[in-house]
Amino acid sequence: MRRRSTPNRRQTRRLPRDADRRGESRTGVSLSNQAYELIKRDITLCLLPPGAEVSETDLTKRYGFGKAPIRAALLKLSQDRLLTSSPRRGYTVAPVTLRDVEEIYQLRSILEPALVKKAVLGADIAPLRALLKRLNYSNAASNPLDFLEAHCELHTAVAKASGNERATRIVATLLSDAARVIHLGEFAPSRSNEALEEDHKVQQQQHEAIVAALGRNDGDLAERLMREHIEHSWMMFKKAAFSSTTLRITRESEAKAA
Ligand SMILES: [Zn+2]
Repeated sequence: MRRRSTPNRRQTRRLPRDADRRGESRTGVSLSNQAYELIKRDITLCLLPPGAEVSETDLTKRYGFGKAPIRAALLKLSQDRLLTSSPRRGYTVAPVTLRDVEEIYQLRSILEPALVKKAVLGADIAPLRALLKRLNYSNAASNPLDFLEAHCELHTAVAKASGNERATRIVATLLSDAARVIHLGEFAPSRSNEALEEDHKVQQQQHEAIVAALGRNDGDLAERLMREHIEHSWMMFKKAAFSSTTLRITRESEAKAA
């Protein structure tokens, strides 16, 4: 069984220039936002794994920002519920609980098939086809963040085609919440390259079939395909989670005790 190589973090991390660390960046993005995006990315990719304890001092050294931007980023990440804070232990990366995963997949199973069925009435599939192209399976293991973002955008665009703005916002949030879960299931260290490639082939076919059904205005088929796709993703996660000793999935009782 071959193992995938771990992406080189030094290659992928975009550290701020020395001159920029002291104030607003030349791109106009505030340092606290840059720190927030970098830490969020590392939480999503489990480079900062569920349950890990982090401190302002550690993160200041790790990312090369001053204390103020790191503090602001930590506050925002706590509001996103990606970090928890306690007076004694500082910050902890939120565990991924079984309840989190079940809630996400249950809601996706209810919402997304219903929305894709509605989307056949007015879907412009040209942008969806463009998003399918962006979902680069061959590069997914070496650039999982781009893959996860493109996947989130595709599902959100399908939901948006239904015309229901509120439901679209909920789907976008669910996919964002699911990014860490999908990453844990999809890119679990215990999975071989062959298993990942096989699964991506199935997913690619599922995404293409959903968009094709939309193109043919076949709402019933699109609804069934979306349900099957979400069930497949859920099954894949369960298989990866329960066959691995390295995944950090926490039962609710353990999360409360932590
Ligand atoms: Zn998908």
